[in-house]
Amino acid sequence: MIVATESQQTGRATVYKRGSRGDVVRQIQKALNIYADGIFGKVTEDAVREFQRRNGLKVDGIVGAMTMEKLGVAMTSQQTGLSGVAMTSQQTGLRRSVRRIDEIIVHCSATPEGKDYTVKDIRAWHTAPVSKGGRGWSDIAYHYVVYRDGSVHEGRDVNSVGTHCARHNSHSIGVCYVGGMTKDMKRDKDTRTDAQKKGLLTLLRGLRRLYPKARIRGHRDFASKPCPSFDATTEYMGL
Ligand SMILES: [Zn+2]
Repeated sequence: MIVATESQQTGRATVYKRGSRGDVVRQIQKALNIYADGIFGKVTEDAVREFQRRNGLKVDGIVGAMTMEKLGVAMTSQQTGLSGVAMTSQQTGLRRSVRRIDEIIVHCSATPEGKDYTVKDIRAWHTAPVSKGGRGWSDIAYHYVVYRDGSVHEGRDVNSVGTHCARHNSHSIGVCYVGGMTKDMKRDKDTRTDAQKKGLLTLLRGLRRLYPKARIRGHRDFASKPCPSFDATTEYMGL
């Protein structure tokens, strides 16, 4: 039996190179904008070399601490899980999906005003079995989640089809802000904080740059539900 190792140790520093496998490798591949299969092979090595060349790093095709930092991949991501990690300014930007994207669909998490929830929380609700009150999905429905403090977090991999809007999933990106309901959960409400509005705007602008032909819509445009509790189509018309 072959045991796949996450990384190889050289001296005291953990490095990732040809032959490395696992979640961190997958994260490195995501940051490099290449297919993320979690296996560090020739394609990954070439992409690492190219990245190192462009960023003035030592070009050896090995991801050590310096390259890792430049890639914006946090070493601690092993503990926190692959996604749900706040995007750092070092990150080169949003990753483009290999899917053809013609819609960016805005949602709310349908949670009470003033309460914080994370990608981890939402992922847990979405992946729990139906028998336990969950949705029984393979992952969180959305590709991005904007927290109440305005920070943008990756949810489902952008290359993976979401489960956020029936009949539109295969060709869309799902964006969700935390909130959307009154404190007592009786009514839908636009609960976006100022920071959240800014975060959404920055994210949507970035996505429009990646997918210039994609239209920004609200979930309500395609379903008889109030989500995302405001008129996204009108608000983001000029983006
Ligand atoms: Zn929705």
